[in-house]
Amino acid sequence: MAKNANEALLYAAERGCIQGVKAALKAGADIDYAGAQDGHEITDATALYIASFLGHADVVRLLIRKGASLTKRSIGKSNSPLLIAAAKGYTEVVELLVRHGATLDTRDAYQRTPLMVACSYKQVDIARRLIEFGARADLTDAKGLTAQQHCERDVELTKLVQEALHTRLLRCCNTTCGKPGYRSTLKLCAQCKLTRYCSRDCQRQHWLIGHQKSCGHDTFSDDGSNPFLKLSKLKTVKQKCVQI
Ligand SMILES: [Zn+2]
Ligand SMILES: [Zn+2]
Repeated sequence: MAKNANEALLYAAERGCIQGVKAALKAGADIDYAGAQDGHEITDATALYIASFLGHADVVRLLIRKGASLTKRSIGKSNSPLLIAAAKGYTEVVELLVRHGATLDTRDAYQRTPLMVACSYKQVDIARRLIEFGARADLTDAKGLTAQQHCERDVELTKLVQEALHTRLLRCCNTTCGKPGYRSTLKLCAQCKLTRYCSRDCQRQHWLIGHQKSCGHDTFSDDGSNPFLKLSKLKTVKQKCVQI
C-alpha cells in the first residue's frame, strides 16, 4: 500500500493535483520519497522537487506545510527544489521555498547558487527577487564565474547584478525581518555560514521557520554516480548549528 501511495504522491505532484497529494499522504506515502518510476516526466525526485520543477505552487505550499524536505536533491543530480525553481522561473515557488527556510545561497554540484542559475537561464524576475531577499552577488562557482558572468550579454540582468555588487547590501535571512545590512554588520550562522542575521532573535525565528531542517544540508554531496560531479565535490557539514 505504501509503495503505491508513494507513487500516487509523485503522480499527483507532477499533475499539480492537491486532492491527489492529500489522498496519497493520508494513505501513508513518505513525503520525501524519491524513486525511479516509469511513465513519469521527472524521475528520481521527491514530490516537492517535481512540483518546484513544474511550478505547481499550491502543491509546493501544501508539501512544505506537511513537512517536506527543502533540501533533498534529485538522485544522481544536484539540484535542490530552490535551484530548479530558480532555473525554471517560478517566482511564487521560489518565494515559498525561501520564506519557509530554504537557504538563499545554496549550491549545486558546480557550486552555482540560485542567483547564478537564474542569471544563466535569463530569469530576470527570479534574479530580482533573490537579490531583494538578500542573495549574495559576489560568490563564484567551481569555474570561478560570478553571477554577473552568468548573465552573459543580458543587459537588464547585468544591471541588476551590478547594482547588487555596487551597494554590497545584504539582508537578514529571517524573511519576516529582511533588514538590510552589510557583511560586517550581519552575523553568520556558525554552522553553515550561509545564512546571516541582524540579531539573535532573527536567527532563532529563522531556525524555527525552517532553517533547522536546511542548515548543514545545503551543499551537494556526491554519491559517486557521476564522475564529473566528483570534481566539485563539496564537504557536508555535520555539526549542529551554533547560536551566535
Ligand atoms: Zn533580522
Ligand atoms: Zn545554518
